[in-house]
Amino acid sequence: MGKPTGFLESARELPGDRPPLERIEDWGEFHHHMPAGKLREQGGRCMDCGVPFCHTGTLLGGMASGCPIHNLIPEWNDLVYRGLWREALERLHKTNNFPEFTGRVCPAPCEGSCVLGISDPAVTIKNIECSIVDHGFEQGWIVPVPPAVRTEKRVAVIGSGPAGLACAAQLNRAGHHVTVYERDDRIGGLLMYGIPNMKLEKEKVVQRRVDLMAAEGIEFVTGTAVGRDLPAQDLVDEYDAVVICAGATKPRDLPVPGRELGGIHFAMDFLRANTRSLLDTQHADGNFISAQDKDVIVIGGGDTGTDCVGTSLRHGCRSLNQFEILPRPPDERAASNPWPEWPKVYMLDYGQEEAAAKFGGDPRSYCIMTKEFIADDEGNVTSLKTVVVQWVSNKNGGPPFQEVAESEKVWPAQLVLLAMGFLGPEDTLIEQLGAERDDRSNVKAEHGLYTTSVDGVFAAGDARRGQSLVVWAINEGRGAAREVDRYLMGSTQLP
Ligand SMILES: Cc1cc2nc3c(=O)[nH]c(=O)nc-3n(C[C@H](O)[C@H](O)[C@H](O)COP(=O)(O)OP(=O)(O)OC[C@H]3O[C@@H](n4cnc5c(N)ncnc54)[C@H](O)[C@@H]3O)c2cc1C
Ligand code: SF4
Repeated sequence: MGKPTGFLESARELPGDRPPLERIEDWGEFHHHMPAGKLREQGGRCMDCGVPFCHTGTLLGGMASGCPIHNLIPEWNDLVYRGLWREALERLHKTNNFPEFTGRVCPAPCEGSCVLGISDPAVTIKNIECSIVDHGFEQGWIVPVPPAVRTEKRVAVIGSGPAGLACAAQLNRAGHHVTVYERDDRIGGLLMYGIPNMKLEKEKVVQRRVDLMAAEGIEFVTGTAVGRDLPAQDLVDEYDAVVICAGATKPRDLPVPGRELGGIHFAMDFLRANTRSLLDTQHADGNFISAQDKDVIVIGGGDTGTDCVGTSLRHGCRSLNQFEILPRPPDERAASNPWPEWPKVYMLDYGQEEAAAKFGGDPRSYCIMTKEFIADDEGNVTSLKTVVVQWVSNKNGGPPFQEVAESEKVWPAQLVLLAMGFLGPEDTLIEQLGAERDDRSNVKAEHGLYTTSVDGVFAAGDARRGQSLVVWAINEGRGAAREVDRYLMGSTQLP
């Protein structure tokens, strides 16, 4: 422990973000960075608890509590406090292949279970993680490290999101020949085409890591949908093992009257086209769904919805509303949501903060349900009708909410974005492989083992657990690599 009295002397401090009204004018990252001296002070707040919870990665109340990849947080907090940045980086890379991703986009369940958080604001773990790896890149310490010895084993990984990348990185480290198949034109999965550029820069951050992995010997094949462009069975026949890391990309729809109207899109169609056009031509090709001068309604209050809010603002939308069917969370932890559980409390994420700066308030309305989309003469959406719902405990198994009488409201909208979550992986690939599904339609494979019903075929990430978090995808990709290595070699030294 670097500084026994650090938590008594220093308050929690984050570097702050660029001002909302400034940052919505561009697509650059919105976080500022902190000087080394301040970071040392923040690292010194870590109490190096006898029994730390920040790195446990346990599911409590269905949510991650502590870091799912078991980052050695107290150790690198201490190393940062002592100015030993290179050693901190080595400790960080032991458990996390991609701290520059999690340090930017992870919701930081570690901070929700920091022991200091019981009485004081938690240690700024995520920011310290990000600073360690950014410093490592700046110093040129992060270079390709190809394996010293190669095995003769060949592994195909289907999907290049964080699960596929973590799996590939670990298998390559063990000396296997790894080929990653990706149907998109760029590598990264939702790191590339889901999470927008202002949250995670594509060329500077995502592509940088992909280039390192390629230099370490991993082969990337883009523009190839396994199951469509290449029979899935070919991979099973040609490789010693196959890992399904294809994500959970089937979006939840809203089958209400008018759903077929023009101007109503799934969030991912909006976000993917936006990032692709940005990266291809800085939007000059116009190949994206524009929110400019439109009244935009985002249906769904999660991460995906927030990214639609941030993107619509950067297009220059006229107005913005975001609907959430659930009630507004409390300002403080509820008694039923104690430490070290993930705190389900009301917060303004970056998109809502920007909307508040531009339009004067949080764009979210809670307990609201869309009943109908209304068209103009040309079949495009012009408005939508909602009702307010009241949540009730329904022991007889009916819906857990009731519509409030005479609460109908019509909202103008020329662009509606559906961000209501995902229903599991797409069918073709899994059907071709003949892998069994679980009762949520994900690929059936036990967490920790990752073996599917097909010999030599493994599954990890959202395809196995349903839409989740980048940090869980890394956890699963690493775990699947360990089990593939064991399957191929009879034993494994991968963590
Ligand atoms: C808009 C959005 C924002 C998010 N924001 C955050 C966030 O801020 N923080 C966070 O922690 N999590 C966030 N998430 C969740 C997180 O991105 C996912 O949990 C994570 O990316 C899952 O990783 P994965 O590797 O399992 O799958 P994915 O990232 O979905 O990658 C799967 C890849 O497989 C490819 N693929 C699918 N089928 C085939 C096939 N047949 N052949 C070849 N390739 C195929 C897909 O094209 C894709 O590239 C967000 C999700 C979304 C949708
Ligand atoms: S990966 Fe996420 S949970 Fe783990 S230490 Fe980093 S911010 Fe915390």
